[in-house]
Amino acid sequence: MNKFDFTKEERKQIRSIVEENLSEYYSNTKSKKVGRLFDPIEVKEFVNQFEFKEESNAEDVIENVIYGLSEYAIQTPHPSYYGLFNPRPGYASIMADYISAMFNPQLASWSHAPFANEVERKCIEELGAKLGIKDAAIDGAFCSGGAESNLTAVLCALNNKYPKLAKEGIIGMNSRPVIYISAEAHHSVHKAARITGLGTDVIRTIKVNKNLEMDIDDLELRIEEDLSSGYEPLMVVATTGSTGAGAIDNVKEILAISSRHGIWLHADAAYGAGLKISSKYREHLGAVHLADSITIDLHKWFSVPMGASVILVKDRNILKKTFEMRTDYMPLHENEVTVDPYSNSIQWSRRAIGLKFFLPLAIHGWKVYDDTITHQIEIAQYMRQQLKRYNWEITNNTPLPIVCFTHDNLKNSDAKVNKLIDTIVQSGKTWCSAYSVNNEMSIRACITNYATSEQNVDEFVELLNSAME
Ligand SMILES: *Cc1c(COP(=O)(O)O)cnc(C)c1O
Repeated sequence: MNKFDFTKEERKQIRSIVEENLSEYYSNTKSKKVGRLFDPIEVKEFVNQFEFKEESNAEDVIENVIYGLSEYAIQTPHPSYYGLFNPRPGYASIMADYISAMFNPQLASWSHAPFANEVERKCIEELGAKLGIKDAAIDGAFCSGGAESNLTAVLCALNNKYPKLAKEGIIGMNSRPVIYISAEAHHSVHKAARITGLGTDVIRTIKVNKNLEMDIDDLELRIEEDLSSGYEPLMVVATTGSTGAGAIDNVKEILAISSRHGIWLHADAAYGAGLKISSKYREHLGAVHLADSITIDLHKWFSVPMGASVILVKDRNILKKTFEMRTDYMPLHENEVTVDPYSNSIQWSRRAIGLKFFLPLAIHGWKVYDDTITHQIEIAQYMRQQLKRYNWEITNNTPLPIVCFTHDNLKNSDAKVNKLIDTIVQSGKTWCSAYSVNNEMSIRACITNYATSEQNVDEFVELLNSAME
């Protein structure tokens, strides 16, 4: 027997150590400090105590690793973490990752993992339907995150417009494509421009209106300018739920322009897509279903552990056109009803990403997602109301649970805002960040955690009030 297996008795012991530590963390996340400033020397020293020279006691090592993760990290699953779009992962999702690691299904090909592949197909169909895509020809692929999904969208737009691109590459291209994004778009689009070899000069940054949504007139003007100077408008990215302040670009209005010029329309709903699950608030996301491609991050508002994202596309041939590969050492794909992920997406060997969304969805059903997301939206409404009660001023305007705010005493001073954030973050009782909204440096608090309650919000507002005194 190889040592990697451990004995049955040892495995039981290991599981019980893990279970003991983790269930304590999961049940009492709230009792932990949300975070603090970390000293790199201290963290490096802690990691360097692991030496790998000889065998160590598994239980000690595991306990040290768990200590490292719980001590040297911002506790994103904490209900008072109002930071980036990091959720508290649902328990069923965590179990799905564990189960999936045990079987280690190979998602490169369909024939190696038919069940896990069909699980992902089903998730893609369900998400497409929830977003309001009537077309039965919905297609898509699982990705590691929104950055990979957005990169996939750029590649699809390119291969759609330039049939020779797959062979001749950017080098063989005789055109000057351009990509339109709003000033509030996520910078993974810039990164995609770099990775694809297009370069960031192809990016046209469109002005935003008072609500930080893409200015349609400016978009139209820039397209006209580019056309008359010999550029080829390739793609418009509508950010439907911006990272900074939750602005939602108007897909319908953008489409009226992009479709006139045959421009690929991508909706970056990495974060915002969750809004479509709330039957009460879904209309606020607008017509994302009309886009040619849509990014949805499951590891944000869908409470799934990283990394899990989906790129939806409506042209059933485009992923194939963009990624298709054939080689003897891969099992042959022989039918029309299944797809091989290695041949319709960026990754090759990869884990079963979809299972950690499928399992909780199968256990809880859509209604629980609907209620949970609606609850988070309403917790943000409660936060806005409480902040206003204590003379804080809301600076952004969004139906999404992202609250940006300032105070008379902080106006025109980025330094004061940052100092206040430092103070409350150093208390270990919360984590939030700063974001400039219409040139007003604001405090930004986002509710991505389904466990965040009115009581947590009250504590947050109290903390802010006392830091303001
Ligand atoms: C988070 C985010 C991304 C990037 O997604 P990752 O999952 O972090 O790779 C892209 N676009 C938007 C709007 C986002 O909020």
